[in-house]
Amino acid sequence: MGFVPTMTFEEARACVMATVRAGAREPAVEMVSLLDSAGRTLAVDCKADRDYPAADRSVRDGFAVRSGEPSELSVIGEVRAGAAFEGEVRPDQAVEIMTGAPVPAGADAVVMVEHVDRDGDRIRSRAAAAPGQNISPRGCEAREGDVVLRRGTRVGFAEMAMLATIGCAGVRVYRRPRVAVIPTGDEVVDVTATPRPFEVRNSNAYALAVQIRRAGAEPVILQVARDEYSHTRFLVERGLESDMLLLSGGVSAGKYDLVEKVLAEMEAEFFFDRVKIQPGQPVVFGRVRGKIFFGLPGNPVSTMVCYEVFGRAATEILGGQQEPLLPMAYARLTEPFRQKPGLTRFLPAKLAPAGEQVTPVSWSGSGDVAALARANAFLVTEPDRETWEAGDPIRVLLR
Ligand code: AMP
Ligand code: MG
Repeated sequence: MGFVPTMTFEEARACVMATVRAGAREPAVEMVSLLDSAGRTLAVDCKADRDYPAADRSVRDGFAVRSGEPSELSVIGEVRAGAAFEGEVRPDQAVEIMTGAPVPAGADAVVMVEHVDRDGDRIRSRAAAAPGQNISPRGCEAREGDVVLRRGTRVGFAEMAMLATIGCAGVRVYRRPRVAVIPTGDEVVDVTATPRPFEVRNSNAYALAVQIRRAGAEPVILQVARDEYSHTRFLVERGLESDMLLLSGGVSAGKYDLVEKVLAEMEAEFFFDRVKIQPGQPVVFGRVRGKIFFGLPGNPVSTMVCYEVFGRAATEILGGQQEPLLPMAYARLTEPFRQKPGLTRFLPAKLAPAGEQVTPVSWSGSGDVAALARANAFLVTEPDRETWEAGDPIRVLLR
């Protein structure tokens, strides 16, 4: 409809982030058990309850020694992980030590077992021990009271390990935002229906449900809006009971594309309604009654791409996440590639198992769900470039 100038991909994404950040209130907080915090967003800074490690710790199996001392030593005992050595290592002495065990008093280096010749309780080191060698000093990972996880961090496996390490049995997390989905279109029928040749099953609601959950939110799937003003308006009103609203379809220039009209008459603000991307050029982003909405073009690949590159960031920010990430990397093309310049394209592609090579997946356009299901990533083109040779690095959006 042309409410605002067409944006580049980067401008549009920056616009989404800035707009959602400016309007987002801190979500409500709830307490969950450690395991249930997986995938949730931390509502508080989490601090180290003691130094990590809590004592100087050996990172090798070997002998705890005094650095710079003669290499002929007598072994006076051993210390293993889970125990502490009572005595002190004096000149000419060593203590046998296992990985993870605390370094005994007096010692300041660990010589690896592989670098020692042993004869009964005598050892000879083949190399001089440097101070601190093979030791993780107390507090080198974190000091007591340091913030080790920031508020707004999503809990993945590494964050889970950190929470467990510092003894967080219960975790304060943000409530999941609710994201309403309204599919639109007279041709769209239920998954259980047998569609007539001119109908399609409603795949967008299901794809979005997965994407929304993955962004840390709860999908609220509404009925399919008919291509008719009052039904669309009725469902939009219901959708606005959630924290954010997604519509799929009805945003192109056709006679029955009513989404923008309905929202405009509700006095929505439109930040963009066209972006220089493919698929998904007519994507709409705005705010109505204080709620963020997206009008996602209805072709399934367009819907999925637009949610992934714009809607997901908005969802994550609403859920209290500080740093929404678009997981892009570079891989080398296995074949030459060309495009007509002007648009940032997100095209189905297959990333090789090791992630270093990528092959475009042939597709018949933005309705081609089968091509996307055969792919495992998106190629992301730069809009001003026309050709790539086999072997050239190209951006890849991971999924
Ligand atoms: P539209 O953006 O409304 O012009 O829709 C474009 C095309 O996307 C339609 O012709 C349908 O084939 C397809 N489409 C729209 N909505 C859905 C949906 N919910 N699920 C699957 N395909 C859809
Ligand atoms: Mg439609």
